Amino acid sequence: MLTRVERLREHLAQKNLTGILITNYHNRLYLSNFTGSEGLLFILQDKAYLCTDFRYLEQAAQEAPGWEIVKLDRPWTETVRKLVEPRSRVAFEAESLTWSRYRELVQDISGVEWVAEKGLVEKLRSRKDAEEIRRLREAIRLTDEGALYLQSMLKPGLSEKEVALELEFYLRRKGAVGPSFPFIVVSGPRSSLPHGQPSERRLVPGDIVIVDFGVIYEGYCSDLTRTFILGPPRSEQTALYELVLAAQERALALAGPGVAAASVDAAAREVIAKAGYGDYFGHSLGHGVGLEIHETPHLSSSSTEELQPGMVVTVEPGVYLPGAGGVRIEDVILITEQGREVLSQAPKHSFVL
Ligand code: ZN
Ligand code: ZN
Repeated sequence: MLTRVERLREHLAQKNLTGILITNYHNRLYLSNFTGSEGLLFILQDKAYLCTDFRYLEQAAQEAPGWEIVKLDRPWTETVRKLVEPRSRVAFEAESLTWSRYRELVQDISGVEWVAEKGLVEKLRSRKDAEEIRRLREAIRLTDEGALYLQSMLKPGLSEKEVALELEFYLRRKGAVGPSFPFIVVSGPRSSLPHGQPSERRLVPGDIVIVDFGVIYEGYCSDLTRTFILGPPRSEQTALYELVLAAQERALALAGPGVAAASVDAAAREVIAKAGYGDYFGHSLGHGVGLEIHETPHLSSSSTEELQPGMVVTVEPGVYLPGAGGVRIEDVILITEQGREVLSQAPKHSFVL
C-alpha cells in the first residue's frame, strides 16, 4: 500500500510539479503526524523535509520518523531557498499560504516557478484508511453516548447554555479531547435557527430541542444532530419530524460508491420540496468529516464529486420554519465497496416524554 506521501507524489508527477510546500495545519498533520503549531513541509520526489522552529525540533523528530527535520531560519524563506532546486516548479497551497508569505517567497527566491494548487491533499484525505476509520468510529461512539445522555437529562427549566455545558462535561469525562465545534442547542421558536448558539432561554414543555454536537478523539471529529420533543409531540411536530426523517432515509438509501454527491443532496431535497417545504431547507445535505469537522466531499447541489469507498460524510437534512421551529437529523456514514454503513447509532425517535 502506498503511503500518504507516495500518493501525493504521484499527483505531483502527473501535474509535472517538482515538489510542494505544505502550509495547511491539517494537511501537515495528515502527511507527517507532526502536531506542533509552527512548521511546514517541503516534499520532493526523493526528499521529505519537515521545517519547524527550535521549540519543536525534538517533538518533530519523535512524531515524524522518516522525515528530515530542518530548523526554520529567519527569514523562513531562507530555509526554503536552501532546499529548493533552481529552475524547479513548486506547488504551494493557495488556500493556506497568506498573501504576504507568498510575496516573500517570490521576492526572496528567484528562479523557481511557484504554482498555486487547491485541494490536492484534501482530496487524499477524503478517502479514509483503516486507522482513520477506527478513530472516527470511536469519536462517533462517544457522540452516540452523548445522545443517550441528552435523552435522560433534557427537562423543562434547563437553559440551552446549561444543556450545552452539561453535555460537554459528560463527553469529556467519557474520553473526548474536546468538542469538534461549539455545540448548537436551540429550543422552542429558536429551533428554526439552523446554526443558533445556545442562549439563556429555558426549556418548557412542548419544546422542540435541536442539539448538534461532536467531539474530537485522537485528532478525529464526530458530528451528530438529534431533535428532541419535550413532552407528547403535537401532530404538526410529528409530521415535520417524519418528513425530515423520510428525506434522510431516501438519501441514506441512495448513497454509495460511484454515486454523484449532488444526486444524494437532490434526493433528500426532492422529498422535502414535494411536501411544500423546499424553501425551508436552505443548507446543503452533508459534508465530509475527519481531521476537520467540515471537509471534502460536500453533499450539495453544486458538488461535482463522486462518492468513493472510504469517504465518511454526514447526511443532515433539516426544515426550519421561522417563528415556529425546526427539525434536523444528522448521521455519519461510511461509503463502502458495496454501499454505505451508517456509523452513528443513536436512536432517532428520541422524544422525551
Ligand atoms: Zn452537525
Ligand atoms: Zn454536520
